[in-house]
Amino acid sequence: MSKRVQASASLESARLQDIVALCKRRGFAFPGSEIYGGLQAAWDYGPLGVELRNNIKRAWWEAMTYQREDVVGIDAAILMARQVWQASGHEAGFNDPLVDCKNCKNRFRADILVEDQDKLGLAHDVCIICGKQGTLTEPRQFNLMFKMNFGPVADDASIVYLRPETAQGIYVNFVNVQQAMRRKLPFGIAQIGKAFRNEIVTANFIFRLREFEQMEMQFFVEPGSEDRWFQEWRQTRWEWYRTVGMTMEHLHWHQHGPDELAHYAKEAWDIYYDFPFGSKEMEGIHNRTDFDLRRHAEFSGKDLTYLDEQNGNKRYLPYVVETSVGADRLTLALLCDAYNEDIVDGEKRVVMRFHKRIAPVKVAVMPLSKKEPLVKLAKDVRASLMHLGLTQYDDTGGNIGRRYRRQDEIGTPFCVTVDFQSLEDNQVTVRDRDTTEQRRVPIADLPDILARDLRS
Ligand SMILES: [Zn+2]
Repeated sequence: MSKRVQASASLESARLQDIVALCKRRGFAFPGSEIYGGLQAAWDYGPLGVELRNNIKRAWWEAMTYQREDVVGIDAAILMARQVWQASGHEAGFNDPLVDCKNCKNRFRADILVEDQDKLGLAHDVCIICGKQGTLTEPRQFNLMFKMNFGPVADDASIVYLRPETAQGIYVNFVNVQQAMRRKLPFGIAQIGKAFRNEIVTANFIFRLREFEQMEMQFFVEPGSEDRWFQEWRQTRWEWYRTVGMTMEHLHWHQHGPDELAHYAKEAWDIYYDFPFGSKEMEGIHNRTDFDLRRHAEFSGKDLTYLDEQNGNKRYLPYVVETSVGADRLTLALLCDAYNEDIVDGEKRVVMRFHKRIAPVKVAVMPLSKKEPLVKLAKDVRASLMHLGLTQYDDTGGNIGRRYRRQDEIGTPFCVTVDFQSLEDNQVTVRDRDTTEQRRVPIADLPDILARDLRS
């Protein structure tokens, strides 16, 4: 995005900057290779970020595999035979047209340049950075795959790519999975894994990264039934967002027009999320037809058809309905969604209202003082809660309110305070993040009560 557009968008992205600052300050995400000045658009997830993202991935995995009879999971290797990407069309066609400005040497993605020119009311031959006319080159192709050499000899025969999508790992294993798991159509294969795209334009924190993680599911169906399954998966995926606490008003459907459709897709709908920098794609549901399996059958010479024994032993290539969501984008969406500022006891507080199942820290335990035997009791209480997930222990002393605020800022649903009274009545105070209400609970019942409350 150009400097001028960024400036005009700065108000909207103020909240994004708050979120990025919080993420860094509190250990959700750090700029990659920061001590060396950082690697552009590379982010490392910190102790709370990895927990948040794992919780999100687990919620997806549970919904897509455990809770369905018709989907199984795999984990394919990132590096695959080069022919995979020739068959998929990525080697020849996975390109972004680029435009250079001969005057200021800036480089733009052609489609985004046109968008920015329109926003700024500029003609399409005017550079949006330096404002010169006629200095932009014709669009040139640039392949988005990271190219590497497999083994010690760097020649054409050793070329491999870091996979730009996880889907192909599913297609090339279709027959293996179908036979090993004795599956009948329709059934799906789910996968969570890293993918890599050498994006020209990266932006907006963890929204567009060169290394990112996908959560994809390919659902194989009999040709002719794909439209029905497409509608069903659209509905299923939309409803799933409720289960991770998404504000549903922030989600929108976007249908791909003819010029947006990928070469393999017959129909495609995206779920957009209202990010602070605009409404953008988070998940895609695509009708990929039999394009990928057909190409792999052609390029590999293998028979990838399915024998439909319940249907007069008909043989056919299944059609595929794909659901694909970026784990990083979804993490960012849920960070934006959770971010809240409110007033508690006359003080401004930042509170991350994560759904309990995705909150990185489930419970924080705090002794009111650093003195024994309070500390021992507080540590015992914490130990009794460790099976609930990540817990924190905070004995920094001082104002308990300040310790609550620190937990609010990372979205911890429950704080447990151990005070002097606890030594006598064997009860502790449980404080709720959202209501800030407090209740006394017997220590012996605490693990069961919190386990139940975390599930609710
Ligand atoms: Zn220029």
